[in-house]
Amino acid sequence: MRKKIVAGNWKMNMDLQEGLVFASSLNEYFRDKPSLKAEVILCTPFIHLPGVAEIVKNGNIFLGAQNCASEESGAYTGEVSANMIKSTGAGYVIIGHSERRTYYHEDNKLLNKKTNLALSNGLYVIFCFGEVKEEREEGKHFNVVKQQLDEGLFTLSKEEMKRIVLAYEPVWAIGTGLTATPDQAQEMHKYIRELVSEKYGNDTAEQLTILYGGSCKPSNAGEIFSKPDVDGGLIGGASLKKDDFISIVEAV
Ligand code: PEP
Repeated sequence: MRKKIVAGNWKMNMDLQEGLVFASSLNEYFRDKPSLKAEVILCTPFIHLPGVAEIVKNGNIFLGAQNCASEESGAYTGEVSANMIKSTGAGYVIIGHSERRTYYHEDNKLLNKKTNLALSNGLYVIFCFGEVKEEREEGKHFNVVKQQLDEGLFTLSKEEMKRIVLAYEPVWAIGTGLTATPDQAQEMHKYIRELVSEKYGNDTAEQLTILYGGSCKPSNAGEIFSKPDVDGGLIGGASLKKDDFISIVEAV
């Protein structure tokens, strides 16, 4: 059985105190739910990591960052390295989110470097990718996704791929209220699994968790997650609302 995951991406929301209160209340809720079918990950801003790590250490929730530096250490003012993230107690890092690709011009080559650094520092990587609206309208979405995976990820070894979670996030659906239909998500996830299978073999592809992200909410999560190649979700806006996030986790 593949691992199911629901990861919340808090983005740049909540100050430290608000974040710790929110994490505590989620931790309390999920601590008493040993039968949960999904692994829950909170991807918080850097400054929240040590505090949230302390809160979730005796619970059911895992912790991740939203980005890491592309260098190991040194004179890179303002950056946070993979090793620093790991030292907070976090186990995951999101790499390649469309907001990083768009606003900070992170390309596949740079994301490949970040992924390698994250892995070599013992983190698991939630690797995000997906097409923009025009690319889908022009029927290029499969090619775009293939290139993002070929250049960003497919240099990894089979062993390294075991520490990767994929997150297909059509950019036109992120924070827009537009969601891929369950069939559109399934079609792309199936294609992604086939690409992984061609490169790494069927076993690796079958074990790989592939998340959907893009305006997931309680009203659509159940149907999207019921598709055979969708193994959970990466949740932005709805991860900031306790009841919505819990409903999405429970939809798995
Ligand atoms: C995201 O930021 O990864 C995301 C999917 O955002 P939203 O759920 O708000 O569309």
